[in-house]
Amino acid sequence: MQTFEAQSTPDQGPPRLAALRAEMAKRGFDVFLVPRADAHQGEYVAPRDARLEWLTGFSGSAGFCAVLPDVAGVFIDGRYRVQVRAQVADVFTAVHWPEVQLADWLKEQMPDGGTLAYDPWLHTVSEIAALRKKLTAFTLTPTDNLVDAIWDNQPGPPDAPFTPHPTDLAGEDHADKRARLANDLSADAAVLTLPDSIAWLLNIRGTDIARNPVPQAFAILHRSGKVDLFAKDGKADGVRAHLGTDVAVHDVDRFLAALAALKGAVLIDAKTCPDLIATTLKDAGCEVVEGKDPCILPKARKNATEIAGAKAAHERDAVAMVRFLAWLDGTAPQGGLTEIDVVKALEGFRRDTNALRDISFETICGAGPNGAIVHYRVSDDTNRPVTSGDLLLVDSGGQYVDGTTDITRTIAIGAPTDEHRKCYTRVLQGMIAISRIRFPKGVGGQHLDALARAPLWMAGQDYDHGTGHGVGSYLSVHEGPQGISRRSDVALEAGMILSNEPGYYREGAFGIRIENLIVAVSAPPLPGADQREMLAFDTLTYVPFDRHLIDVTLLSSPERDWIDRYHADTLSLLASRVDADTHAWLTKACAPL
Ligand code: ZN
Ligand code: ZN
Repeated sequence: MQTFEAQSTPDQGPPRLAALRAEMAKRGFDVFLVPRADAHQGEYVAPRDARLEWLTGFSGSAGFCAVLPDVAGVFIDGRYRVQVRAQVADVFTAVHWPEVQLADWLKEQMPDGGTLAYDPWLHTVSEIAALRKKLTAFTLTPTDNLVDAIWDNQPGPPDAPFTPHPTDLAGEDHADKRARLANDLSADAAVLTLPDSIAWLLNIRGTDIARNPVPQAFAILHRSGKVDLFAKDGKADGVRAHLGTDVAVHDVDRFLAALAALKGAVLIDAKTCPDLIATTLKDAGCEVVEGKDPCILPKARKNATEIAGAKAAHERDAVAMVRFLAWLDGTAPQGGLTEIDVVKALEGFRRDTNALRDISFETICGAGPNGAIVHYRVSDDTNRPVTSGDLLLVDSGGQYVDGTTDITRTIAIGAPTDEHRKCYTRVLQGMIAISRIRFPKGVGGQHLDALARAPLWMAGQDYDHGTGHGVGSYLSVHEGPQGISRRSDVALEAGMILSNEPGYYREGAFGIRIENLIVAVSAPPLPGADQREMLAFDTLTYVPFDRHLIDVTLLSSPERDWIDRYHADTLSLLASRVDADTHAWLTKACAPL
């Protein structure tokens, strides 16, 4: 079950910072960087790698601290400006990032330069190259991690065993995947450092990181199609038979030596590869080729088995969601519910499926003004009662062996205002526009993004996040390279799963977001259409929208038809899977508008 209390408190920061500075002085370093990252650059880190939180108290999912002898800057983005003030002591200075870049800030603090030390496992090749280019007056020095040196009782590395992800769920044998990738490899070998890439390629899963069923490991894919897998001793024992003889398992301590033994051209993804890997390869005389991790695009194109699995997972998850919504509808008007009660109840309904492996991210549940905080995560300190007149925004998801879900519904508690209904309806219209669109092959999400915003734009409104992200197949809920946002230029392809989640947020008042997952498919034939390859989206998520929030007068007739058909499909899909009370609720919720 999710927890709601802080892991670190602000008063722990000052003595830890003092100890870190003493360690820096001992070694002659003027700057030490503490990123919120591990060697695999994922969205979540294991407790052992939560160095930024341990040092500063800041628990957000992105950011870093630059420690100098008399100033320590905690760099955080727009999502975390309020949170950081509550979590860190005033010996730390919050720096607005990316508006202020680390290199510029350092040059301001230390105009004459100095020695900047960093842990080369935790910073990517791109990051270090960019710093070197800008910080010409500084000496950049890789070092062992100074936080680890002063952290008493630091947790050990995760040691949960890996498990096979069977071919009847993956849809393709790992030998076929290896052969396919090796065939397209532009180098003699590729170094894989992303756990979800390794999970996908070898059809294995793990429980090393919360919310993402990934194995913490490194791998080398050779042009022969053979793979060397490096993991903490013992973790891969349970998958040796599954991996077969062409995948050799080694202790992770052997990884650097294996890199040093490589010959020829070696592919790395500079955006995610630890700097230490590149320097090790270069020192060994390898030609380092920078390119994309070769697993990323094939992983994003889900095969028929994975799509069938996603549909099954979404149906199961929808049963939990519908039970939850029916419960909320019956319970919230009585009063006394808090955001934490809602989060716990929803997780309980998902657990009732008896198929939940984990939730897919920490539930975002914001009542009233908390709904306007886009990445809000309720804690004991912020927990708000859910009261009549509030909009309640609930963004949640589950990890099932056959698929990963991510759904947002916004629910009116009591009677919504006209303004609530107008804003909600515009957001829904944007979501419908993406759901209905047909578009030529080759188009990227950046060209679809505006469709989701147009109804809001026409009312002088907008939202400050992307419209959609890629989603893994029993893997990370945020998965590249595809997306629907102004910056997403990756051509969408059949099989890619995306979220479709426009929103609208009024600070201090309310937040609205509606999110379905969709999968790109080749568009069904259309009478009179050109001979042109077109794509469309199939919807994966079938859970009713709150009809009390829909202003029917704003809808076009195709939009209204779309909602009615969506609700009819939802009812027919779930009717036989829910109990009588839920069925009665669902029938009302899915009635034509
Ligand atoms: Zn979501
Ligand atoms: Zn999402």
